[in-house]
Amino acid sequence: MIMLFTLLGFIATILGFVYLTEITGYVIHSYTFYAIVPVGGFLVGMAATAAFFFSRKFFQKPIKIKEYIIGALLGIAAYAGIYYASYLTLYISPEGEPNRWFRGEHISNFESEDGKTITFSRYMEAELSEVTHSLSRGRSLRRREFTTGETINVLLLLLQLLGAVVGGALMGLIAGGAVRYCDKCKKYMLEKELFRLHPDEYSKLIELVERKEIGFSLADSIKNLNNASSTDAQYVNVSIEYCPTCHTGHLTIKSMKKNEKSKEEEIPEFTKTVIVANDVTRSLVA
Ligand SMILES: [Zn+2]
Repeated sequence: MIMLFTLLGFIATILGFVYLTEITGYVIHSYTFYAIVPVGGFLVGMAATAAFFFSRKFFQKPIKIKEYIIGALLGIAAYAGIYYASYLTLYISPEGEPNRWFRGEHISNFESEDGKTITFSRYMEAELSEVTHSLSRGRSLRRREFTTGETINVLLLLLQLLGAVVGGALMGLIAGGAVRYCDKCKKYMLEKELFRLHPDEYSKLIELVERKEIGFSLADSIKNLNNASSTDAQYVNVSIEYCPTCHTGHLTIKSMKKNEKSKEEEIPEFTKTVIVANDVTRSLVA
């Protein structure tokens, strides 16, 4: 199933970018910010691996080093695939109009000026010999266009491939690579916010969780602490990350305060992570 979704997502990405370019006349996959940040490649990489990573997450399969490498390779393959698909779908209509709607004959049936068949490598040479770029500067909507020569174009292509590698791997992190995984049960852990406690309860809570002998009554003791009211400028956030099957879990205790803009902010020096017994977890998330 994962293989099928991966393949579909990968092909859809290639065709999507090819036809988006064809329809809009705008080469999105080679788009850059400030002329060097390879946004296009990055997007291609992300799009090409989204189905791969999200289906792994959906089917509770882990995302580890191997998957990140596959993601990076899929990103690069998709970027190269866009060029190859652009070649395969390039037709010349009887009126001499290049199009990608299969009107007329395929480009390989034509010859270049020096009488040679237009193969994929010749097509790429032509693609890279002169390229017009659109450039947007910062947040302004003013776009500038400029044309670059072959050396720069090859460098830009390499840069975009690098962007595709990064985008391809990064998607793994977005899809679930950052979520803890229970290797025993082969499941992604869940996260749940349990309490918002009154700031005075912080030290009591820390004392409770550090006194291991309390065992399973720990859950009840925590439940008995005072909750913060909505007017408190500060509160203690208690959340738990746990495996839904075996209930292996750990509590994260954070001290939160509202800053001048009344946005909540974590006070990092008070953050604590404590592993709790499985029956405590079970009782807390029940
Ligand atoms: Zn588990």
